[in-house]
Amino acid sequence: MIVRLNALSKSILCAIALGGNLNNPAETFDAALTRLNDHPRISVTARSPWYTTPPMGPPQPDYLNGCALLETTLDSSELLAMLLDTETQLGRVREVHWGPRTLDLDLLLYGDSIIELPHLTVPHLGLGDRAFMLKPLADIAADWVDPRSGKTIKQLLQTIDCSEIHLAVN
Ligand code: ADP
Ligand code: MG
Repeated sequence: MIVRLNALSKSILCAIALGGNLNNPAETFDAALTRLNDHPRISVTARSPWYTTPPMGPPQPDYLNGCALLETTLDSSELLAMLLDTETQLGRVREVHWGPRTLDLDLLLYGDSIIELPHLTVPHLGLGDRAFMLKPLADIAADWVDPRSGKTIKQLLQTIDCSEIHLAVN
């Protein structure tokens, strides 16, 4: 008997956020998406345009932000580990909390799962009120329902101030 496992049959659609404000973030974002897509159990299926946003936390340069969609057969902790490893490989040094960084990769949505683990909260706790997450995510996944609020990304976006997020030269 031949049993063929279709790797895609168990794949989960995920959304990630990319952020950075040091050393050419647009180039770093491209390198990060290439590295993720090169993983045998991850396919990058979409990316948003990049946006510029003022920083949260201590004074520092403006951020470049965006989102991407992935299909993966990794579980959520394995995917988070891959995101954190990609941050490290692409030069992130963890120093000041909310301080400047070359690359921040956050897991926003993992299918319709709600995950509460010591090292991982999904949907990301900032998703409901951060323009730099909702605006680019709405470009590529407007109708995705946030499992916590039951609202679509498009609906969540309508409830927040987007005056400080601007399309970057992409
Ligand atoms: P921030 O993204 O808030 O600036 P960090 O990138 O330094 O902070 O992340 C700190 C920790 O947050 C990570 O080591 C990770 O374990 C944890 N974390 C919890 N939930 C998530 C999530 N949804 N996406 C990414 N990291 C998360
Ligand atoms: Mg992070």
